Amino acid sequence: MKPMGPIPPEFAGQRGALMIGERTAQDWVAEAGSPCFVYDPAIVAARVARFRAALPGIDLHYAMKANPHPTLLAAIAPLVDGIDVASAGELAIARAEMPAARISFAGPGKRDAELQAAIAAGATLNAESTGEVRRALAIGERLGRQPRLAVRVNPDLELKGSGMKMGGRPSPFGIDAERAADAVRLIRDGAADWRGFHIFAGSQALDPQAIIETQTATVALAARLAEEAGAPPPLVNLGGGFGVPYFSGDVAVDVERIGAALAETLAARPAILAGAGFAIELGRWLVAEAGVYLTRVVDRKESRGETFLVVDGGLHHQLAASGNFGTVVRRNYPVAVAHRMGEEAGLEEVSVVGCLCTPLDRLADRVALPRAEPGDVIAIFLAGAYGLTASPTAFLGHPAPVECVAGLS
Ligand SMILES: *Cc1c(COP(=O)(O)O)cnc(C)c1O
Repeated sequence: MKPMGPIPPEFAGQRGALMIGERTAQDWVAEAGSPCFVYDPAIVAARVARFRAALPGIDLHYAMKANPHPTLLAAIAPLVDGIDVASAGELAIARAEMPAARISFAGPGKRDAELQAAIAAGATLNAESTGEVRRALAIGERLGRQPRLAVRVNPDLELKGSGMKMGGRPSPFGIDAERAADAVRLIRDGAADWRGFHIFAGSQALDPQAIIETQTATVALAARLAEEAGAPPPLVNLGGGFGVPYFSGDVAVDVERIGAALAETLAARPAILAGAGFAIELGRWLVAEAGVYLTRVVDRKESRGETFLVVDGGLHHQLAASGNFGTVVRRNYPVAVAHRMGEEAGLEEVSVVGCLCTPLDRLADRVALPRAEPGDVIAIFLAGAYGLTASPTAFLGHPAPVECVAGLS
């Protein structure tokens, strides 16, 4: 028997039929077919409310690559102060929901057409290199538009304990801290609108102490770079990277503690940052727990003492649950038999495997679940972030799953 991660709080206390946004999982599957994703914006709204209470005065941006579903995005946009996009495609979707002045565009390898789309719209470009700054300035000149440019900094610090480290080493992301002041001068001399700094040190961080230390160091770094550049930044984007508990032993981020520490840091900030606004951009923390992947059992088989529930979904829709997206060791996401929530008696050890012809397609490995038969629905939680759009949907040519967004009640 292997442990699984904790079921998110909104679902953990449920008994009997799993309810997602006031409908049962069975109803969702009856309507949308199996497999399907269901997203509940009420859960995102609860996370936003918690952030607002814990970090008053800090702008909250949504990093939409975590889940770009247009209906979900339309529900999130009015709740946040900005949207961070990572491609011209995302920019086009975001523009339907948010004034361009509150959209920022980060990511390496922005093509000229993408820079042009952002500059023409008036979105902020988080520059990933000096070469990108130069290209943006030239495009702005050609268009007769003043580009809005922030300097994304490759910090000389890293977010300890985060799943994906982004700083403190050579990186395709951001301009090395040692060169950031030069980039600011280049932007200002080029008569662009300098929007400040963007400093993103890592993703999927759970340890509040590590996040606090990173934020403190980030504020100090922004001040140092501003002094070097001789210009106060209008905005300091502190990045994000708040994680969610996917696995056994993971503990949810203590955002209240982070908020209290950040308030202290900002109260004592250097004078050059006195007029700066501060933003945190979050993807995963806002949406991961709001999504559930539902997939029906097609076959139940025994093989040499192990019971397999073979489902009609798999890693082509929800790669992360198979342990093949951003994790080194495969561990179990929280899963449940959707009509038997909370059952504790008569559990059996089973592996939930997808329908792809690869041993990688294992959605739960030797977990304890109530008995499930063909036709029953398995719920895989934490499917709201880096789910469908981060999965190899074309692999094996199965049809795409429907994505449903529950009504906001
Ligand atoms: C992906 C990304 C984020 C969001 O990261 P999460 O871990 O999902 O919060 C934030 N900022 C930038 C620049 C990103 O690329």
